[in-house]
Amino acid sequence: MVVIMKPGFSQEELQGAIHAMEAGGVKVMVSQGSETTILGAEGDASRIDQEKVALLPGVDRVMRVTEPYKKANRKYHPDDTVVDLGNGALVGGEKLAVIAGPCSVESEAQIVGVAKAVKESGAAALRGGAFKPRTSPYSFQGMGNDGIRLLQEARAATGLPIVTEIMSTDNIEMFEMCVDVIQVGARNMQNFDLLKQLGKTSKPILLKRGLSSTIEEWLMSAEYIMAGGNERVILCERGIRTFETFTRNTLDLSAVLAVKKLSHLPVVVDPSHACGQAWMVERMSLAAAAAGADGLIIEVHNDPPHALCDGAQSITPEQFDALMGKLRTLAPCVGRTA
Ligand code: PEP
Ligand code: MN
Repeated sequence: MVVIMKPGFSQEELQGAIHAMEAGGVKVMVSQGSETTILGAEGDASRIDQEKVALLPGVDRVMRVTEPYKKANRKYHPDDTVVDLGNGALVGGEKLAVIAGPCSVESEAQIVGVAKAVKESGAAALRGGAFKPRTSPYSFQGMGNDGIRLLQEARAATGLPIVTEIMSTDNIEMFEMCVDVIQVGARNMQNFDLLKQLGKTSKPILLKRGLSSTIEEWLMSAEYIMAGGNERVILCERGIRTFETFTRNTLDLSAVLAVKKLSHLPVVVDPSHACGQAWMVERMSLAAAAAGADGLIIEVHNDPPHALCDGAQSITPEQFDALMGKLRTLAPCVGRTA
């Protein structure tokens, strides 16, 4: 962080600016030029309230020179973080981790059936929503606790770790006990209370990118979780809102590269929510693997036309099996097999 003083500042104003920076825990280096005086912060400036410093008398402007996220930053942690999903399956390692399953848990037959099918095809984990963030309060809201119980049954039947979305801090204890990976949905990416609480849990967190979030905002949300003590964060690019309406969202594949450069955290791609159309899922999955994603999260339903949620973007178990075959064919080119 650098503070630039206004021309003609007084000594009192200079001391005021230095004091405000030192109070944030940094050492201040003063560089007095003939026209411009600059104060440089030495150390971690992330606790300094930059907006407050910018308002001080005599201060012209404040500039950030390092990213505000530290724990998530590759600069301070050069090695890739590898997250164990719960059964030894890794995200961020040699293998492409593919998480698959329905948007929502609907019945025992449905979730156990899909779990067995995706396991057979080589999935690393089972997804399925029990608490659903729906745009309309009249839409299916998920099976709640019963859905979690059915996910546990599917885990018992297949050995696949279960990934499911949390919506409320009220459920943290139950999720910590019952599920393997806690998903934070796009709509909750900036629910800071939830993120803080999840920082105290021991379970990996799949953090979806917010609908209209910048890469930096997304990494700051990861920072919230990590600052609380939980460093097992998996980022998920799931498409962002743009002016385009043909697809449900716009899949930002360049974000995979950006995030892998900026952060050591693993990144998975969700082509289902990004595109909203089942016929696009295969190609976008291959593209995500080619872009260097550490994994994929894909909606798979046994009967998409009758799905209670997101049928249009769900592929069948047969289509999923074909996709896994293609991902394996692509492995020599992308350096990772599924
Ligand atoms: C989901 O994974 O079912 C979901 C609701 O995703 P998102 O939060 O990305 O919209
Ligand atoms: Mn969905």
